[in-house]
Amino acid sequence: MEFIDLHTHTLASDGTDAPAGLVRKAAAAGLKAVAVTDHDTVGGLEEATEEGDRSGIEVIRGCEISARSEFGEMHILGLWLPEDPGPLARVLEELRTQRTDRNLIIIRKLVELGVDIAYEEVLAVAGGETVGRPHVARVLMDKGYVASLREAFERYLGYKGLAYEPKKTLSPVKAVTLLSGLGATVSLAHPRLIRCPDAWLEDTVSALKSYGLSAIEAYHSEHSGADERFCVDLAVRHGLALSGGSDYHGAAKPGIDLGTGHGGLRVPAFVLEELKRQRREHGLPV
Ligand code: AMP
Ligand code: ZN
Ligand code: FE
Ligand code: FE
Repeated sequence: MEFIDLHTHTLASDGTDAPAGLVRKAAAAGLKAVAVTDHDTVGGLEEATEEGDRSGIEVIRGCEISARSEFGEMHILGLWLPEDPGPLARVLEELRTQRTDRNLIIIRKLVELGVDIAYEEVLAVAGGETVGRPHVARVLMDKGYVASLREAFERYLGYKGLAYEPKKTLSPVKAVTLLSGLGATVSLAHPRLIRCPDAWLEDTVSALKSYGLSAIEAYHSEHSGADERFCVDLAVRHGLALSGGSDYHGAAKPGIDLGTGHGGLRVPAFVLEELKRQRREHGLPV
């Protein structure tokens, strides 16, 4: 049996592996295909696809966009992004600009709390275009303010943290419309991590399908077996395909490995074959 991983992050956003390094690791792990899905950037995709050709592993060009909902953030994955991202490029750039504004507010709050931290230090640990809270967390840890990345989120950066600042995000409809308009396969990432009523998720999936949502990320490192089954049923009820991936971030999320997540994750290659079948049905390139 062959396996794949359709959700990973590199240095282009808040992962810690260079795109080429991540692709080499995926090939070494025996995966048949890997999607690179950095937050708010396509900056790692060229390096990743070039390494895919060298290493003999299929690389799928993707990204992950945060959207807002009444129950907190929803994450939308775009897979098979075109080489020319067109209008997506401008939207992603705007999202990154809003991230900069937010990051500066977080830094100001930290300084007001007595933490000795400068934004330049955060930029120095970020390797790519998208800078976020994990980079701030790394600096807090390196400077001894917290003992772990997790503690950085608990004490300072998370929803209940002392320096919390929400992120400006798109509406889910805008994110889905934008990605599907480019011919991407659009998947709702880790649906069970949204703390929302089941009926609301049902209605939201139904509404987003009419804007081009095409898949549900049933398989994910933080999904239990019951979550997986729930998502598979959800997808079947709405006539959507399945996707799955580890959400690998390298050292930024210790304990999550490519393809296997916390150890129990396996995304079979037929998930990829089904997504491709769906794309061919709609006349989209694979
Ligand atoms: P941002 O996009 O800047 O809001 O940061 C979100 C990133 O922070 C996501 O990739 C999460 O994986 C990571 N993150 C969120 N909460 C935690 C946490 N409690 N511990 C470690 N990482 C977290
Ligand atoms: Zn991330
Ligand atoms: Fe996510
Ligand atoms: Fe992710």
